[in-house]
Amino acid sequence: MKQNTPILLLLWSVLMATQLNGQNCGTEVTVNQYNLLSRTRIERQSFDSYRFKTSDTIPIALHIVRKSDGSDAPKLALLKYALNNLNSAFTKANIVFTYCGEPEYIDDDRFYNFRKADEPLLADSRDEDGAINVYITQSITNFSGSQLCGYTYMPGAKDRIFMSSSCLGNGTTFAHEMGHYLSLYHTHGVDFNQPELVNGSNCEIAGDEICDTPADPNLLGEVDNCTYDGNKKDANGDLYQPDVHNIMSYSVPNCRYEFSDGQIARMQYSIENDHPNLKCNNKVASFLANPLDEYSDISIYPNPTQGMAQIKFSETIPEGSYISIYNAFGKLMKQQVINPDLAGGVYQFDLSGFGKGIYFVYLKNGTKISMKKLLYQ
Ligand SMILES: [Zn+2]
Repeated sequence: MKQNTPILLLLWSVLMATQLNGQNCGTEVTVNQYNLLSRTRIERQSFDSYRFKTSDTIPIALHIVRKSDGSDAPKLALLKYALNNLNSAFTKANIVFTYCGEPEYIDDDRFYNFRKADEPLLADSRDEDGAINVYITQSITNFSGSQLCGYTYMPGAKDRIFMSSSCLGNGTTFAHEMGHYLSLYHTHGVDFNQPELVNGSNCEIAGDEICDTPADPNLLGEVDNCTYDGNKKDANGDLYQPDVHNIMSYSVPNCRYEFSDGQIARMQYSIENDHPNLKCNNKVASFLANPLDEYSDISIYPNPTQGMAQIKFSETIPEGSYISIYNAFGKLMKQQVINPDLAGGVYQFDLSGFGKGIYFVYLKNGTKISMKKLLYQ
């Protein structure tokens, strides 16, 4: 085992690079959608985010595809985790989403590994009015045959987001697609616009049309250890200094965690003006009120803790697994990839500086999630 560690680490790096890349967003902007958004570009840029108040939570209608025999649904814990993650990304924007009504289960092998070409067959008769229809399938394949994590539509089209269950728990793809749904372009811009200059002089009409996101040359394959390691220059010869933490970038999903103030204002404008009919008239999904299942493959000690704690893994941890620690309000406090050489061992972490209270520690491995409560006192 020991002498294999460097090979495992290499393999792990390759897997992480292919699995967790931002390229797996399949959202496309049509010329009609672009023209529609361009007509209100200035209003979107000047929207006063302080006056945005929503008393309603934004409803998501869940449509979950299982195999024809009804097996292999994503765990409710994963769905709850994904909603927590989504709301964590939107806390600063004062936007709260909920699963409105009970999930609809669709038992059909044709859609389990979903092809984008089959979208009308799957969704046209199932969309609910007044909600964002989120379809969760095992995988998503584009027209060209490539795998997608998710895709959606810019305003002026359908109220739908498609997510593959394997990407639902990766931290930010769900929030990224929601950003598109709420009218955000990628931080590297939209094809119909000219590239944004590093000095910001054309930021209102170039790139993503948002001036507080720095010019971005497209970060696909250019981010290492959450640092931009490219050396591209803009038309003036200035080196790019993009934001690898922006959710709408093509940075690595694990490195992305925030929207800028300008993006937040544009999304708030979109809720009020592009999507005024979003309202949850149903009860929220009953599973949200139930405690998450706890699984036995991790243990935490000491618990309660006075700061330092250790997670012990009782089974082998596959590559690409990670630990996420949330506070009682659902805010992500820490996220850490677990190296394969930690498998069967322990992971030590420090809560001091977080504030005392209850924390939720998740171990995520693909679609499998374990959760333990931890008390810091
Ligand atoms: Zn995208």
